[in-house]
Amino acid sequence: MEVNQMRGANNRRVKSLNRSTVLQYIRKQGQASKADIAAQTHLSFTAVKNITDELLSYSFISEVGYDESTGGRKPLLYKLKEDRFYSVGLHLSVARIHVVVLNLSGGVHAHYETETNPDALQSNAIVDQLIDCIEDAIVKSNVDRTRILGIGMAIPGPLDPFGGVVLSPPNMKGLAGLPLKQLMTDHFGIETLIEKDANLIALGEYWHGAARGKRNVFYLDADVGIGSGIIIDGKLHYGSPYGAGEVGHGTINIDGPRCNCGNYGCLEAVASGLAIERRAGEEIRRGAETSYRERYLADEKSVSIAAILDAARDGDSLSQQLLTESARYVGIAVGNVIHLLMPEIIIIGGALTHAYPRYFEHTKEIAMSRIFASFADHIHIYKAELGVLGGAIGAGTLVLEQFFQKDLSEWMDMKPLLS
Ligand SMILES: [Zn+2]
Repeated sequence: MEVNQMRGANNRRVKSLNRSTVLQYIRKQGQASKADIAAQTHLSFTAVKNITDELLSYSFISEVGYDESTGGRKPLLYKLKEDRFYSVGLHLSVARIHVVVLNLSGGVHAHYETETNPDALQSNAIVDQLIDCIEDAIVKSNVDRTRILGIGMAIPGPLDPFGGVVLSPPNMKGLAGLPLKQLMTDHFGIETLIEKDANLIALGEYWHGAARGKRNVFYLDADVGIGSGIIIDGKLHYGSPYGAGEVGHGTINIDGPRCNCGNYGCLEAVASGLAIERRAGEEIRRGAETSYRERYLADEKSVSIAAILDAARDGDSLSQQLLTESARYVGIAVGNVIHLLMPEIIIIGGALTHAYPRYFEHTKEIAMSRIFASFADHIHIYKAELGVLGGAIGAGTLVLEQFFQKDLSEWMDMKPLLS
């Protein structure tokens, strides 16, 4: 390469980097003035002015009004132009499929949900249901497909996020070995990313929920299965090359029952929604009284974790006892993680947490009772804020994350889509 060519390529790279720095700063802050951007990004005021002018001309940002002035002219504030681009986020769980269409700021523009077809989960017919759900969500959102940056999918682990292949989810045998990223990218003609569900709930909570403003986060999902996600210094922690955060399959009872993963005594095998269903059956067969005893004896499959959670809320003592037992194991696991990672914030979510309020309190109490007392002051354990939409919002957020880190020129080459 000639020296001038090299210089040209270098300038373009620096320009692209600066553009993305400014855009990411506006994204993080919600709104910002040129002086504020310059001060925080260490770019010159002139450079920031040139970049904001360019971003305005391509409709990536818009003016929102004036900031309070400390004297002199009031500074103009900028924010992302939310309806410029969108992302689609899907969360597949054993019970339900949620799909959201997010705007550029990560706000939920449209939401679609349906029950997961239980038979489809045991074969790759689930792919057709996922495609239908995404189609329905896009149609419902009224968003033009050329404005969709990508599709993110929150899928139970373990999976290979880089190759885009689902590996062997213990409770969804039909997905094992599926190259889901490629299948979806080919079908929709839109780049698709897949990631472990708990990682994406962690990412959703980091951007839009209980972990806003924190850098180091541990998220535990207590649901039909048990998963977890780790964010270190603002980035998802994958492990090497991936697979970190399978806290649900660490052994917590060495004499415990067999887990769907093949091991024995995993946290998931003794404390998950599936484990609670199994325990309810054992106790009923031993003669325990409960509001769903007759129903269970007539048809074992009719008593799901959702029914047990309902009963617990209505005061059924067996259900409450089983949830307390689960929270005890989960709390101990959280205590172990605290000793290992010492995260800035610990978030507990998932159906068990959201559907039975005392679950979170029990878990937190046990975790706090198991750590060094001298650490207690700087341990912060909170309940997840995004509820059942956490996984879908996180999946859409993963697509936005990638967009904001990219060279924007490929999108700038598209004709400005002024609306
Ligand atoms: Zn296991």
